[in-house]
Amino acid sequence: MNIILLGPPGAGKGTQAKRLEALYGLKQISTGDMLRAEVAAGSAIGNEAKAIMEKGQFVPDPIIVAMIQNRIAQPDCERGFILDGFPRTESQAEALDTMLSARGLTIDAVILLDVNEEKLVERIASRCGEDGTRRPDDNPDVVRARLDVYRKQTAPILPYYERAGRLLHVDGMKDVESVGKEIDAIVAAAKKH
Ligand code: AMP
Repeated sequence: MNIILLGPPGAGKGTQAKRLEALYGLKQISTGDMLRAEVAAGSAIGNEAKAIMEKGQFVPDPIIVAMIQNRIAQPDCERGFILDGFPRTESQAEALDTMLSARGLTIDAVILLDVNEEKLVERIASRCGEDGTRRPDDNPDVVRARLDVYRKQTAPILPYYERAGRLLHVDGMKDVESVGKEIDAIVAAAKKH
């Protein structure tokens, strides 16, 4: 079972990915996390990616695609994976389809967590941390800026899957459990195919 999870920051992708890992033994793969680890390790990839990431630009496709290709071949991805932050461009999406079909694999579900952006800003801005304080990146201006980045950097991939009739919408404004159940239904339907 291989899944692409799409949606803006704060839509609950991380929470749902963790749930999918626990329930189905899938592995969450975040290209952002992988790149940050490369930067921290001072690797060749990290050194090339660092300045690009600091400017908020895209790391070149060949690097990202090779990284994903190696990652999904690891034993912990045998039961499947959840892609988070990849693909971000049509050419990455095409490269993904090509690399998977060469391995006899496919993406079983492309899931978009739909949210109302204004309500999302309110929801994030009103939540408090466990100690009663607010996270520094939870203020409305920062949330709006992160949504802006999403619109520019990730949303452009939606038409690729929409056109092919592959995009499955889930109402991300519901509570965590209801969203989880909708995703379970998608997984169950995908298993039958
Ligand atoms: P994220 O944590 O997903 O927001 O990613 C952080 C940064 O890593 C992005 O702003 C990009 O510079 C880079 N990055 C992550 N995923 C990709 C990708 N699929 N393609 C190109 N650059 C990426």
